[in-house]
Amino acid sequence: MRAGNFPVIRYFALPPMPSVHIKTYGCQMNERDSEQVAQMLGERGYRMTQDEADADVILLNTCSVRDMAEQKAIGKMGMLRKLRQARPHLVLGYLGCMAQARGDSLTKTSPHVDLVVGTQKFHRVADYVDDLLRRRLEARIDDQRIPIVDVDEEEGSEAAIRDQELAAGQCAAFVSIMQGCNMHCAFCIVPQTRGAERGRPIDEIVGEVRGLAERGIREVTLLGQIVNLYGRHELPQKDGVSPFVQLLEAVCGVDGIDRVRFTSPHPIGFKADLIAAFGRLPKLAEHVHLPLQSGSDRILKIMRRGYTSDAFRKLVARLRAERPGIAITTDIIVGFPGETDADYAATRALTDEAGFDNAFVFRYSPRQNTPAATMDEQVPEKIKEWRNKDLLDVVNRHVARHLGALVGHHVEILCEGASRTNPQRLSGRTRTNKIAVFEGDPRHIGRIFDVRIERATASTLYGTKSQLTGHAGCR
Ligand code: SF4
Repeated sequence: MRAGNFPVIRYFALPPMPSVHIKTYGCQMNERDSEQVAQMLGERGYRMTQDEADADVILLNTCSVRDMAEQKAIGKMGMLRKLRQARPHLVLGYLGCMAQARGDSLTKTSPHVDLVVGTQKFHRVADYVDDLLRRRLEARIDDQRIPIVDVDEEEGSEAAIRDQELAAGQCAAFVSIMQGCNMHCAFCIVPQTRGAERGRPIDEIVGEVRGLAERGIREVTLLGQIVNLYGRHELPQKDGVSPFVQLLEAVCGVDGIDRVRFTSPHPIGFKADLIAAFGRLPKLAEHVHLPLQSGSDRILKIMRRGYTSDAFRKLVARLRAERPGIAITTDIIVGFPGETDADYAATRALTDEAGFDNAFVFRYSPRQNTPAATMDEQVPEKIKEWRNKDLLDVVNRHVARHLGALVGHHVEILCEGASRTNPQRLSGRTRTNKIAVFEGDPRHIGRIFDVRIERATASTLYGTKSQLTGHAGCR
């Protein structure tokens, strides 16, 4: 803990149920961590609010993967200073990856911050918020605010993300199965922010999934930074089956769960048993997110990715042979240090050849204390921008092709609720992870049925609920 200079706070009475607003940046892991924090605060009598102007506590759950994500969170915290002027008792905190990476220094760049909690301490957030609000209540601080900073490692913290409050009608949920990553890709800050790989026991994860099924969840997404290498340090193989595939089998065996997904895997973790699982586990949804990062063997080597472009190409073919129609999405970095025109051309060619269902294309962003950040031959921003746009044109052409191919077909969807863009309509997710929007009524939410696709835009399918009970292939 350390001290900063702030005005006197003397008179303050807490509302009976203090309200908390959590803003989440970044990936699904962060969303899941925020759900856990919300659940724990709810158990203590806090109420969640979407309205930050109404909040007694505002927490930013941050992402460090790119500089832009960090700058967004820091900018947001800067703007929250004004709310503090209107509501002096307001507790402001940073959680998650940037909190872990920057720690105590955040209380200098954002001196109005009360709380900085790292990725292994989410389960302590409720205690810290209680403490900070109690200090305000008791006016114990006469001439200074003392921020709480906790970014220590904690053994067993991977098992702390296990509870969640479900919204009315919620039918899909994330389940955190592991934390951390031992891979040390040259561009990635995750091993610093999330620590070493640590998996939860299979029976504990299955118990969580069973509990979710009993509460109406029909689709689970298993989450980990390197999810398909789950358990490799803690659990034995069984008859040549990896711990991750053992887990998939167990989760697919839970009554009430109809679809199982996982993210984010690493290409090197797709051994024969995992590829075969797509052929024999019908609940495993037909979608794999398979980060390519680069199509150039030279760059893949410098990135320390552990595979070649040819190995990636073969993996895509084997997955498509095992489960025809499977959707494959990816992540690609353009402008990695030293990436030449020829390297970029190789990435472009492989992207086109693979014909991904979708891709996240990122401009390389140096991350502190990663090997790539200090490499020579950093690529100028203008070239990154050009490659980014050029590659997106390739990606979007394939996205349109995949979506357009569904027009006139019936696809199975899990209805998740009102459409984000038009609340009068419903929205569902296909087994291949595409969004379909259609007319319906609230009794359809949480149900699985077919939708006949009538048109497709750049990112969304539109259709009509079908009376058919089956559907052709995996759509
Ligand atoms: S495998 Fe993924 S999380 Fe791990 S270091 Fe590489 S990019 Fe980062």
